[in-house]
Amino acid sequence: MRYHIWTAGCQMNVADSQRVASALEKLGYLPSPRAEEADVIVLNTCVVRQSAEDKAYGWLHTLRPLKARRPEVVINLMGCLVGIKGNPELKTAFPFVDVFSPPSDLGPLIEHLLMLDVGSPELLEIQHHHTLMDRDWVLPQSERGRLVSAYVPVIEGCSHACSFCVIPLRRGVEHSRPMDEVTSEVRCLAKQGVREVTLLGQIVDRYGKDLPDRPTLADLLREVHEIEEIDRIRFLTSHPNWLTDELIEAVAELPKVCEHIEVPVQAGDDEILRRMKRGYSTEDYRLLIKQIRQRVPETSLATDIIVGFPGETTIQFRRTYQLLEELRFDVVHLARYSPRPGTVAARRMEDDLPQEEKMYRFRVLEELQAQIAGEINTGYVGRTVNVLVEEMHKDRWKGRTRTNKLVFFKSDDNLRGQIVPVRIEWAGPWSMRGVPAMSVHTQSTTPIVTAV
Ligand code: SF4
Repeated sequence: MRYHIWTAGCQMNVADSQRVASALEKLGYLPSPRAEEADVIVLNTCVVRQSAEDKAYGWLHTLRPLKARRPEVVINLMGCLVGIKGNPELKTAFPFVDVFSPPSDLGPLIEHLLMLDVGSPELLEIQHHHTLMDRDWVLPQSERGRLVSAYVPVIEGCSHACSFCVIPLRRGVEHSRPMDEVTSEVRCLAKQGVREVTLLGQIVDRYGKDLPDRPTLADLLREVHEIEEIDRIRFLTSHPNWLTDELIEAVAELPKVCEHIEVPVQAGDDEILRRMKRGYSTEDYRLLIKQIRQRVPETSLATDIIVGFPGETTIQFRRTYQLLEELRFDVVHLARYSPRPGTVAARRMEDDLPQEEKMYRFRVLEELQAQIAGEINTGYVGRTVNVLVEEMHKDRWKGRTRTNKLVFFKSDDNLRGQIVPVRIEWAGPWSMRGVPAMSVHTQSTTPIVTAV
């Protein structure tokens, strides 16, 4: 028996897919790289933008003839396209789909497999813990000992309701996992060979606000920091309003917490931010970045920008350009605005910018960012950085610095999961290349050269 999973969207979906794979492998399924050869096909979908939604429909249309040829194949549509409340229209449009699952919920697939009488004690155990957040059997067998860096959801859903964002409608209100549940998952991952964890949430820095004793993300980072086999800890995505002094202090103080912060600004104009319902001004954001850079000077910073929000004038766009020019982020995730059904922006604001104009603005920012990232990364040339090695990519090892820079280098040794000092010889906007500088490290907490 074989399974195949298609995953779109954010790191949360990547983590969910990993857990679905783990459950299916526990039932005796093996991974199949080809959907055509699988007995269970899971489509884990994203609707954050129209293009992501279109991709999901494209997958579904591809599967229609396959299901007609092999009716016994189980097709499971999962994730944000289905949403927490389910989506009856999907059932009508795609009657050949066997199972519809909300984000992070393995329950409907397991119930369906039970109905098909492939029941087993393992299946019952999984059914008992059907919410993907509940379990300690985290990685699929096929990834154990191979996966170096893993995602760990710590807070699900979002209660913020930015006017453009469909996530709260699809993933529901925020809820945090108890600290002991997160730490036991991280311990389990460490036993399975993982060296780096990224704690995930739509607004990860709101972690704990819904828990009885209100622990903070900084508290959670301290707990995870105690787990010996874990060398590096990251967290994403932050919201400017919740990135507290306490959290910045934790990044500065805890050696395993990497110097990399993802904190979306979305736009560089106050009126646009107000209509996006982001809850801060560009001045607040500038102050925050200044504070982070003062306390953690070597940190790398990533942000998100949406171009072409309803009513965005040339002058307002220009302010976003200037903000990026001024703050010089390491990474900018760019998106063109597309109205998402049910959101405030889709209901009350006219999507009035032509696609060509959105594309033009996107390209202008893309070019600017390529230049800035190229300049920042060129500063690494000649330096030696500690790289946590993840996997082979063609004939080179691929890994990341503490600042989340992608580094490639050649070596005949098996270096997966090791921390290797690499001397950077070439840097572009998106990656760097280098050569191993000296003997391999296993503890990133005691950097011998430069802590990047
Ligand atoms: S903070 Fe805003 S943009 Fe982020 S998930 Fe929540 S509603 Fe969406």
